[in-house]
Amino acid sequence: MAAGAPITQDVLTIPRTVPEGDGRVNLVGLTREGLREALIGAGTPEKQAKMRVNQIWQWIYFWGVREFEAMTNLSKVYRAELSEKFVIALPEVVSRQVSADGTRKYLVRIAGGHEVETVYIPEDDRGTLCISSQVGCTLTCSFCHTGTQKLVRNLTAGEIVGQVMLARDDLGEWPEPGIGAGEAGPRLLSNIVLMGMGEPLYNFENVRDAMKIAMDPEGISLSRRRITLSTSGVVPEISRTAEEIGCQLAISFHATTDEVRNRLVPINKRWNIATLLDALREYPKLSNSERITFEYVMLKDVNDSDADARRLVKLIAGIPAKINLIPFNEWPGAPYERSDWDRIEAFADIIYKAGYASPIRTPRGEDIMAACGQLKSATERARKSRAEIAAEAGL
Ligand code: SAH
Ligand code: SF4
Repeated sequence: MAAGAPITQDVLTIPRTVPEGDGRVNLVGLTREGLREALIGAGTPEKQAKMRVNQIWQWIYFWGVREFEAMTNLSKVYRAELSEKFVIALPEVVSRQVSADGTRKYLVRIAGGHEVETVYIPEDDRGTLCISSQVGCTLTCSFCHTGTQKLVRNLTAGEIVGQVMLARDDLGEWPEPGIGAGEAGPRLLSNIVLMGMGEPLYNFENVRDAMKIAMDPEGISLSRRRITLSTSGVVPEISRTAEEIGCQLAISFHATTDEVRNRLVPINKRWNIATLLDALREYPKLSNSERITFEYVMLKDVNDSDADARRLVKLIAGIPAKINLIPFNEWPGAPYERSDWDRIEAFADIIYKAGYASPIRTPRGEDIMAACGQLKSATERARKSRAEIAAEAGL
């Protein structure tokens, strides 16, 4: 049965809509080069363009300003010209839910009325924002709620970095003039993980541009070491991720044989375990990066045996790695169960004894369906049936 399961589902691709509004161009999401071109196109003299880019960039991404009127180092006339042609706009937050454990889930509406979710996870020593790169996902991992969503559209760079900005708004984390950044203690939003809805490497350019903006030292200024991109294994884009983004990489590995991985992560039928591992061996060298994270969802009686744990450490031998065990997060109609706690610990122990860090990811925000793989736009109604999901999973 698994042989017949599609790698990508029968999706309804939403065409990129023209930005809503009055025709003014949104500056959020333009790279420095893009911003320069936009300003020159709007009449800024070329000689001044570099300086203007620097000034406007700092207002938008360092100070979090949304009105040109507040950009006091620009002349009044120039500010007025800018506000005729441009806007500084973020996607709209439709709702915010706060879990008993402090996790916040934002439902975010993007142009065209579609919705994605963004999750903020506070921890003792850091605060991680889990952002989405697509509405839904074209892939059909059988344990993932997002993979059952039929509508798919790539987010723009502005919609991706906009999630970081709206979370900073909500956390009250833009610096205040006269106080500056970083003096009020550690950042509330210190890390980004591209682990929300969507496959980031199927929206490469927009994800890259958004992360470049988030890393820019004159703006949000997050280190590339604090950004982790998670992919199901889009092999041809892995070396590009190293070269053009340079962030940390996480791989949704989830199985130790092609037979099981084909069922769990159907993209494995296109790029199998051996091909994926070959691409990963190069990554740390290319990106000057630290270890690769292997994500491994713990599914009862599917991929959680001692033999699996032993195969896993053999497969990744030679790759600087850590293994992140994710207890399966259930969702309505899911065709799997979470492995028992003893089983997860026994699995972790084998990995640990083989010399790898093997943290078990504590599910966060479960009461608000904000945990990994539970995200799915609540308003999205075209949904697969239980039977379809089970059939594709080969159950
Ligand atoms: N599309 C990317 C990133 C988003 S998913 C990817 O697949 O890597 C982020 C992580 O959550 C992935 O490792 C994914 O496999 C995992 N995940 C998905 N559904 C899950 C679920 N129900 N329980 C636990 N983890 C899940
Ligand atoms: Fe898409 Fe990732 Fe979910 Fe797979 S696990 S369906 S790639 S979001």
